[in-house]
Amino acid sequence: MVSTEPAKKLRWLEAPELENLGYTPSTEGTINHTQQGLLTPLLLGKEDSVWRMSIEAPEALLDDIGSSNYELADLRSLMPELSMEELAVAGHAVALSNWHRSHVFCGKCGSQTLSIEVGGKRQCTADPAHREYPRTDPVAIMLVESVDGKHALLGRPRSLKRRGPVLTCLSGFIEQGESIEEAVAREVREEAGVEVKNVHILGSQPWPIGRGGSCELMIGCIAQAKNDTVHMDDTEMEEVRWVSRADVAKALDRSSSKDNPLTGGSGEQHEDLDFFIPPPWAIAHHLIKIWAGQPSAWFSAKL
Ligand SMILES: [Zn+2]
Repeated sequence: MVSTEPAKKLRWLEAPELENLGYTPSTEGTINHTQQGLLTPLLLGKEDSVWRMSIEAPEALLDDIGSSNYELADLRSLMPELSMEELAVAGHAVALSNWHRSHVFCGKCGSQTLSIEVGGKRQCTADPAHREYPRTDPVAIMLVESVDGKHALLGRPRSLKRRGPVLTCLSGFIEQGESIEEAVAREVREEAGVEVKNVHILGSQPWPIGRGGSCELMIGCIAQAKNDTVHMDDTEMEEVRWVSRADVAKALDRSSSKDNPLTGGSGEQHEDLDFFIPPPWAIAHHLIKIWAGQPSAWFSAKL
């Protein structure tokens, strides 16, 4: 629930508030509420001795709470306005809810499933041994340093076309049976036609609003190019190019600007720079920042 005043922030509803409005939590059940007044909570965790849960609110509940004080918003639009702590909680809630809604039938026998253990898993109604668990899909995201150590390989996938002039790190799902390092090499080869070596893992970030409604774990890497000639896969990518350290530094300075289309801006370009990079809530921003912070080639300094 997002409060509209003064600045947007999350506000927890206490259990008695819900009960006063005529809603009763039910620890097990479907995620789609067919019984009036019954809510299926999903456990998010415990903070300061208080259990935190999320619910999928039926429209009537929103009416009862009062729409003048709260508003519905999608998570991406809230990213510029909520704190990192609030985004982490909201992201967990959205990811868990998305998973429940896409697993209402058993993957083994097709029967209906029910949420059990306060949303920790789902159980088949035909065979209790058929259980499904909230899943996370691993994605490799990588900054590739040029052979001369002075440029970074950035691109714009076709899925970001509507966002305007943005460039970011290449990325892709890790396939079954594949290591992170192998996935990095394959994705860079497929999307840019560039071969890489020396893949290093720098960190990771959960991305609960991933492609197709899945919860992704972005695994951030840096890799060294073995060749510089780009052969872009234009079925997947709209642009791939090498960007100098100086231009990357300028883009970092402007990544939080109101013009950045990735923070809801117009995408208006500056004379000396024709692209924007992701803002600080994306791991791509930090991969780019770590690399740009090196005065010289990252790999010659690290190896
Ligand atoms: Zn089943």
